[in-house]
Amino acid sequence: MLSSRERICSTSKQPTMDPAKDVHVLVLAHPVQGHINPMLQFSKRLASKGLKVTFLIPISTKKSLNLVNASSVQVEYISDGFDHLSIDESLKHFRLSVSQGLSDFIQKHQSCQDNSATVLIYDSFDCWALDVAIEHGMHGAAFFTQSCVVSCIYYLVHQGKVKLPVEAVDGQGRVLSDPPAMSVLGLNDFPSFVVDVHKYPAILKMVLRQFSNFRKAKWLLFNTFTELEEEMVNWMGNQWLMLTVGPTIPSLYLDKRLEDDTDYGLSLFKPEAEACLRWLDSKPPCSTLYVSFGSLASLGEDQMEELASGLRSMKSHFLWVVRESEEEKLPRNFLQELGLDDDKKGLVVRWCNQLQVLSHGSVGCFMTHCGWNSTLEALSLGVPMVVMPQWTDQPTNATFIVDVWKVGLRVRANERGVVTGEEIENCVNEIMEGGERGKEIRENSLGWKEMAKRAIDEGGSSEKNIQEFVSNVLDLCT
Ligand code: UDP
Repeated sequence: MLSSRERICSTSKQPTMDPAKDVHVLVLAHPVQGHINPMLQFSKRLASKGLKVTFLIPISTKKSLNLVNASSVQVEYISDGFDHLSIDESLKHFRLSVSQGLSDFIQKHQSCQDNSATVLIYDSFDCWALDVAIEHGMHGAAFFTQSCVVSCIYYLVHQGKVKLPVEAVDGQGRVLSDPPAMSVLGLNDFPSFVVDVHKYPAILKMVLRQFSNFRKAKWLLFNTFTELEEEMVNWMGNQWLMLTVGPTIPSLYLDKRLEDDTDYGLSLFKPEAEACLRWLDSKPPCSTLYVSFGSLASLGEDQMEELASGLRSMKSHFLWVVRESEEEKLPRNFLQELGLDDDKKGLVVRWCNQLQVLSHGSVGCFMTHCGWNSTLEALSLGVPMVVMPQWTDQPTNATFIVDVWKVGLRVRANERGVVTGEEIENCVNEIMEGGERGKEIRENSLGWKEMAKRAIDEGGSSEKNIQEFVSNVLDLCT
């Protein structure tokens, strides 16, 4: 557990800027795992270039946070006024209370620090943070944690250029052909919030509001890399100043230039890391399917049953993450039947260190819900995917994984909306058994792994953009 204020230093092999400048930025994270990870990782990159970074998290998250790894970033908690509520319950009240907590923090910070921060990097989902920053004389940098394509869809809806609910406009089921990168998307590939507009109205409002004040932000930062979404990045780059800074994955898994950067650093769940590694170590190369649906998605009981039956009957070993809140949906006796020894066919854990798992030689395929971080992680580590999107941006990411980057296969649901065990088994076999299609997918995956590494390595597109951002901040502050 973290104390209320932590600063743990790590060193960097990269030359740092003149520490005398001591330029300070604040980073405000949205308190869910898929948003904390990329923003903390970006913060570490900034710290490695000599910026002082304070990472702010709402206090209600503190009780469930695990410090997994040291970082060069200072973590501070700010009051959100409802420490006793869960994150889900608090979404409604989040904006009011955290903007007050942020304002109080900045005020206190400005009155007692000589080098008070001049820049706030905020999660684009929390666009109100920009108004708070401006009120206090600071500059804002919006950090987008989703793909450019998904962000662009929300932008077009916000501008009224796409009407809600989105509808197909041609016989092929397409919704949009401009920007051209969108033409690959059918109606059901759009983010769920703009297709089924009544299901999560508060979240729909939040994702559209990202674009209500974004022109007042001095920088727009995207967790992607130019080569991955080139067409989209060019389209967006022609309209406003944007910088791609991803993939925001610990340096150990990409360029290895940040010393000790082996983990994201802050986890809302406790990984069963050793058990996973011990078990994976006992399996042959490329023999295991890794299955995870991220930190939020929840499968129906029927779907859990089918997935369990597919895993039971396929030839591959499997490592399946079933979060504690999902455990009761596991079929009766499923765990008992698996047995306890390390020889067993499959391992079920409540949480793992996903990067460790994906980079393990015995993992040959990733069955994923296509959260944007999981997508970038699999691409960066060269692991082929079987995709089973659930909601939010996942259907869009799935389409790009399968049809554009060609690094995965998609399972299809039956008429009851359930993906059968047989369908899952067939798709996994196609990849694991290395048939024609599986081989092509594996080769493409290795190609993207190289490109991801190149983007963040010295001279790469994202590294140049991070350097440009840091130089801008230094110019502004000195
Ligand atoms: N993750 C993990 N262990 C797990 C499952 C997920 O460390 O057992 C991490 C994963 O590496 C990723 C994040 O949790 O960085 C999930 O983010 P993503 O955007 O993929 O999905 P979300 O949870 O937001 O739906």
